[in-house]
Amino acid sequence: MNYYVSTRNENVKATPAQAVLKGLAPDGGLFVPDDLDSLKVNLKAMMNMSYREQAKVVFSLFFPDLGEKTLSDVLEKSYENKFDVPEVAPLVKVGDAYVLELFHGPTCAFKDVALSALPNLMTASAKHEDFKDHILILVATSGDTGSSALTGFSNVDGTDALVFYPEDGISQSQRLQMVTQSAPNVKACAIRGNFDAAQTGVKNIFRSVDQPAPGVSLSSANSINIGRLVPQIVYYFHAYKDLVDSRRIRIGDEVTFIVPTGNFGDIFAGWFARTMGLPVGRLVCASNENDVLTEFLTTGRYNKKREFHKTTSPSMDILVSSNLERLLYFICGSQKTAQYMEDLKTKGEYQITDEELLNIQGIFGTASVDSTRSAEVIRENFQGDHYLMDPHTAVAWGAMEKLLQTGELKQDEARVVLSTASPYKFSRSMLEALGQPERDTDEENMNALQEYSGVAAPDALLSLFSKEILHKDVIDAGDMQDYVIRTAENCRR
Ligand SMILES: *Cc1c(COP(=O)(O)O)cnc(C)c1O
Repeated sequence: MNYYVSTRNENVKATPAQAVLKGLAPDGGLFVPDDLDSLKVNLKAMMNMSYREQAKVVFSLFFPDLGEKTLSDVLEKSYENKFDVPEVAPLVKVGDAYVLELFHGPTCAFKDVALSALPNLMTASAKHEDFKDHILILVATSGDTGSSALTGFSNVDGTDALVFYPEDGISQSQRLQMVTQSAPNVKACAIRGNFDAAQTGVKNIFRSVDQPAPGVSLSSANSINIGRLVPQIVYYFHAYKDLVDSRRIRIGDEVTFIVPTGNFGDIFAGWFARTMGLPVGRLVCASNENDVLTEFLTTGRYNKKREFHKTTSPSMDILVSSNLERLLYFICGSQKTAQYMEDLKTKGEYQITDEELLNIQGIFGTASVDSTRSAEVIRENFQGDHYLMDPHTAVAWGAMEKLLQTGELKQDEARVVLSTASPYKFSRSMLEALGQPERDTDEENMNALQEYSGVAAPDALLSLFSKEILHKDVIDAGDMQDYVIRTAENCRR
């Protein structure tokens, strides 16, 4: 693999370092590798490696220009002592399935796996490209990306990070995780609107603003950045290795992964792992009431003109799923992808062909699970196996059960449910699901959940409530661009 190309036009090219620095392609497309064949790995060799060693193999294939030495440094900085378990992503047996716990990083959501690495990848890429501008990272968040990005970029030289989050629809702890960030180079701002408004605003700024201030360039830490996706590929391999080590499977057996999905980033990392040679049976896209992806994967019609539901799994409350564009590119090619994206913009929908749909369905399964069922799943798993899972993970678990019932998933095939957040990020919903009374504040809820479940809450969340609130701005989505320009002017201290 030498270049990344835009999903909307193969002639728009970037080196890996440039792709990480830019985030979005200049034509509005997303960067994808120009050649998938060169991304194949030696699976057997991967099975004898630690998490960090597997990461080294994956990073070297996707960012060959950065060189071995730099990538080793990037990985050491990214994962050394950042996670509260040495293996980064532990695999836990629950019932007759497995849960891949991705929430052991500093902000207790799976986004930490990628956002611990992205800032280091970005500074390494800037150095490699001899890029002198100060980098202003723009982020739209449905809740978890924001705190994870602000933590990841805190005090990283040559960068500032600015996060836009929906004023309503995220939990109190999620908000506190952002507005109490104290590093001088990071900032959070609330938007009157939902996640899609924030994401559209950020995408528009990338398209219309070249340089927000002299000597300042914009980049993205959303999963539209290829540097966000690549670190997520690693834990699919690592989970597979854990299944081999525990003798649940033999090398070559297929494993199904069930992924609670919003922006299609996490699950698309699984698609890359499969493309690289990991024996993946199915990738199951689990949706909540915002089931735009379930409809798409079932009918081939993507229709964003629908009611937006606020659910107990807010990080999946998304109607425009950006990374799906990457899948479209590999299934339909750049010309049709560009057309579909144009249709989505102008008509609010697009329809792929039956043949394209069949190709996608050969790999991806799907089911949607509402908040009521998700709450039942939480209760059942706690009462049955004494396992406490967060509402996003419970949506995925519920989707798995649906597909076992229909026979689309087989009982005897190994199944891994990706667990994307600590249950303590959503203590209020957890108590409600467990039939316990809710308290007034998240702090009280967290303590009550701890007392009831006997499962320890992470220190990173318990310490939130004593911190000072530093970011108080609330703006209309239409004012985002001005806000970015003002932030950029103050960037270079
Ligand atoms: C972001 C997030 C998701 C969705 O992941 P995508 O990569 O956007 O599909 C699911 N669960 C949690 C807890 C998240 O933070």
